[in-house]
Amino acid sequence: MTAEKEMSFVIGTLKKHRSEFVAPALTEIAKERNPYKVLISCILSLRTRDETTARVSESLYKVADNPKDIANLPLKKLSAIIRPVNYYKTKAVRIREMSRIIHGNSDKVPDTMEGLLALKGVGRKTANIVLVYGFNYHGIPVDTHVHRVSNRLGWTTTKTPEKTEAELRRILPKKYWMDLNDLFVQFGQNICAPQRPKCEKCPLTKHCKYYKYKNKR
Ligand code: SF4
Repeated sequence: MTAEKEMSFVIGTLKKHRSEFVAPALTEIAKERNPYKVLISCILSLRTRDETTARVSESLYKVADNPKDIANLPLKKLSAIIRPVNYYKTKAVRIREMSRIIHGNSDKVPDTMEGLLALKGVGRKTANIVLVYGFNYHGIPVDTHVHRVSNRLGWTTTKTPEKTEAELRRILPKKYWMDLNDLFVQFGQNICAPQRPKCEKCPLTKHCKYYKYKNKR
């Protein structure tokens, strides 16, 4: 199988099995195609479980769901609403600050990697998520799951998510970019887990470098 056919097979297989995985919180929010909400929910989601992110996002958007209203929330009130997410104090400060900047820019979220990275608290993963799920642009958000799965499959041999993103941008045909994050995150959370991957349930064993290596010993 050529590398492209291999990638096409893996993505097609994961799409077929998608219903067996739990959908992450951001996928739901992303359906609205609202870059501001995608950005805020992504900040809330960092180092936080999907269920908590979904619950807190919902509570926050009931009180305020646009840059002006969130920028004007008293810090104490915002912190109290988002308290269940990890690092809520830092996140409250950052969310207010970025909301103020975005409101000052006619409520427009930057739609470039550079523009997004200029907002304090936004890294490449968050920026890619906003570009893909908020603006429907091409990008490859790489978190710990996408990084791990790409390396286990043998698509990349990289040490950091940043290097994985650069390598995936080089080797993966653009038509697969939009699907990759969603599929690999769900797959990584539910099957290809960090500590004990459920290889016995995995439809990709024949295409997995890690599995072949593990079963050779
Ligand atoms: S075979 Fe195991 S390690 Fe390989 S992708 Fe599947 S779950 Fe992950």
